[in-house]
Amino acid sequence: MPEPLLPEPLMSEPLMSEPLTGGCLCGEIRYAVDVAVEWLAACYCTDCQRRTSAAGSINAVVPASAFRITRGETRVFTKQADSGNALHRHFCGTCGSWIYNPMGGDATQVVLKAGTFDSHDGMRIALNLWTSRRPAWAPLDSTLPCHEKNIVQTRQD
Ligand SMILES: [Zn+2]
Ligand SMILES: [Zn+2]
Repeated sequence: MPEPLLPEPLMSEPLMSEPLTGGCLCGEIRYAVDVAVEWLAACYCTDCQRRTSAAGSINAVVPASAFRITRGETRVFTKQADSGNALHRHFCGTCGSWIYNPMGGDATQVVLKAGTFDSHDGMRIALNLWTSRRPAWAPLDSTLPCHEKNIVQTRQD
């Protein structure tokens, strides 16, 4: 049995309320998530920096089976991650908002970009990834578990 790729806090909980919804900046892409999202991972890798033009990205990991696009069709940009996995980044072709990517190396999981959520109630960041790449000007909550690289990659090393 291979070890699960995700730490316990990032595993999804059964949904107790309405689906979580979200979408892109222009509204062409809308989606719904049928599991509760509580824990987020901050990623400071350089690919996320370029993709967001910010310090990195804040991410929720949910089962692909619990995620559905409810309006529009995403475009896809694929680039190999440092892990060697091809990462398919889905975004809005009109406004450019990055919505999600299937998790590299585990297509049963989807990595959602938390900035596209309609609501952020009850969510908090559980851990920091790729802190070795964090821009010097970006604040970091060092009381959280910090990983110099990705957890997935570290486990494959
Ligand atoms: Zn859009
Ligand atoms: Zn990243």
